[in-house]
Amino acid sequence: FNAIGEKREVQREDFTPGIEPQATWCPGCGDFSVLKALKGAMTELGKNPDEVLLATGIGCSGKLNSYFESYGFHTLHGRSLPVARAAKLANPDLEVVAAGGDGDGYGIGGNHFTHTARENHDMTYIVFNNEIFGLTKGQTSPTSPKGHKSKTQPHGSAKDPVRPLSLSLTSGASYVARTAAVNPNQAQEILVEAIEHDGFSHVDFLTQCPTWNKDAKQYVPYIDVQENDEYDFDITDRREAAEMMFETETALHEGKVLTGRYYQDADRPSYGQEKRAVGEMPEVPLAERYHDDSYEWE
Ligand code: SF4
Repeated sequence: FNAIGEKREVQREDFTPGIEPQATWCPGCGDFSVLKALKGAMTELGKNPDEVLLATGIGCSGKLNSYFESYGFHTLHGRSLPVARAAKLANPDLEVVAAGGDGDGYGIGGNHFTHTARENHDMTYIVFNNEIFGLTKGQTSPTSPKGHKSKTQPHGSAKDPVRPLSLSLTSGASYVARTAAVNPNQAQEILVEAIEHDGFSHVDFLTQCPTWNKDAKQYVPYIDVQENDEYDFDITDRREAAEMMFETETALHEGKVLTGRYYQDADRPSYGQEKRAVGEMPEVPLAERYHDDSYEWE
């Protein structure tokens, strides 16, 4: 509302808390683009900051909720998803977003990632994938390519990297996409879709780390698989999506950056809907009961 009580359209600045990320994020970091795209998406959707919860993990990415005005919860390493799940189940009206890095989400919190996808919790999960641990100064992460040299693997990583899109699909996510910090328009469009989707939306967001991953790709040039005639697949077909994801993940480590929407199942009920349907959760959510003095607690 404005100064004379008129309701006004939500604006991008409403999601800016007055603390600038330049204080902690390095120049050229891809994290700036995630923040920009998230603010843009929430504005486009007409959300108010008090309708949104942003839960983050630990890492450079974990500072996202310091620079984004909404309800926020800076959780333990890899634990943004359990907190986000609990909040959504208690208050289904809340727009819940969880965010963290590739080490946070695919390594330390990998168990939470697979099971939150399996259970199809209704939220958006943004993973800042820079193929390295940035905050702790450049160690090998679960998405670092095989052979990647770092302080922890000075002779090169002997491990094959995690395939985040494939892992997400096989675990049960109902919306899976990949975008890149260098493609801000696509990033905002994908976040809008992911937030609007009912169920678990996973966005693997390629974010360059110029400080600790200097030799890594800057994720340019990139290809949008929906815009390129070479790629023709149905995002509602699980098998076709799986093949396209596998090709995309292989291509990334051969220097070819593919992005876009990969899978969507718009019909699958979310975990909260299923629990309420079978009577395992009360119809009136906890958040409403908590504020209702007439409600009789058992
Ligand atoms: Fe970004 Fe890397 Fe700097 Fe962290 S260390 S803020 S990921 S550039």
